[in-house]
Amino acid sequence: KLHNTVMELKGNIRVFCRVRPILPHETENDEGMALISFPGKECREIVLSQSSETATGASREAVLPFSFDRVFQPQASQAQVFEEISQLAQSCTDGYNVCIFGYGQTSSGKTYTMEGGTAEEAQGMIPRAVRQIFEVTEELARRGWKYKMEGQFLEIYNETINDLLGVGELDKKHEIKHEKNGRTTVTDVVIVPLESPSQVRTLLARAQSRRTVHATLMNERSSRSHSVFTLRVSGTNPLTGEFCEGCLNLVDLAGSERLATSGAANDKDRLKETQAINKSLSALGDVIAALGEKGAAEKAHIPYRNSKLTYLLQNSLSGNSKTLMMLNLSPLAAHLNESLCSLRFATKVN
Ligand code: ADP
Ligand code: MG
Repeated sequence: KLHNTVMELKGNIRVFCRVRPILPHETENDEGMALISFPGKECREIVLSQSSETATGASREAVLPFSFDRVFQPQASQAQVFEEISQLAQSCTDGYNVCIFGYGQTSSGKTYTMEGGTAEEAQGMIPRAVRQIFEVTEELARRGWKYKMEGQFLEIYNETINDLLGVGELDKKHEIKHEKNGRTTVTDVVIVPLESPSQVRTLLARAQSRRTVHATLMNERSSRSHSVFTLRVSGTNPLTGEFCEGCLNLVDLAGSERLATSGAANDKDRLKETQAINKSLSALGDVIAALGEKGAAEKAHIPYRNSKLTYLLQNSLSGNSKTLMMLNLSPLAAHLNESLCSLRFATKVN
């Protein structure tokens, strides 16, 4: 039996915002920083200023404030960001299904946030969450619980699922199955039993090399696809007969930028990619917005089936679940319009 059957819908969607720092080469090119400010001491507000010229040549400034559950300034470390999500991440050991999404344009810091760099302090949310969950389960083991952890790493590209931990070509067909017990399985994918936290680094590297090998036809394929890392945690307590199962999904979404339509129109593959991305990101926004509405539990229709991503994550977004949207923003003036689009997307789900 599931020891946690509480339906907790209200307040289970959080939206955070993280602005990455300017990178060394960007300073050299003097690309300029957008006017972003962080008023208030609560770390919840972000304000963008946009100046434009009026017909008479005078300059006019528009000030656009947004507020979130938490805002991280460029100097925020990976450890500080993780501190704010660790409770949510570890609730999968209590039987919750958790989704953490990284949303934003290409180069806004999604992959850095999720996977991070190789240096210890640069480690992202995936390795930190796995390490934390190992610690929690070791603690619970002293109270008789026996835990099993498994990892799966998928890519959704052009509405097709690929196995980032698989072997051979990426042409295997994978089907999503929602089982009666609330578990979601994907056919023919590699599921790796996790025995130590350090193992996750190997998995991330394995997925990375697989993406690189298969990126020969398309540049920057990883930014045109969603990647979904799933950690499934199940625990049994032989002393009490309790059982619980939860999962943590860490999703690095495809870049949200709009491609110039003229450029995309010249390139059929690009156009197809762009349509797939637009479709799935708006489907995700629709689902989260629908779940956030009052009385969503009784709401007959949440449109999970509108994209592979929402269909895959259906059981992790509904019912006994918790969702966090991490909005990643670039600090560059050149990216101000994309940043505004991202902020508007977040407002919709917030
Ligand atoms: P995305 O996955 O959204 O396309 P990346 O995560 O690849 O973006 O980030 C773009 C660049 O910025 C990378 O070189 C990355 O290392 C760097 N970067 C992103 N966020 C940070 C940060 N918080 N601190 C330092 N470097 C960062
Ligand atoms: Mg990336």
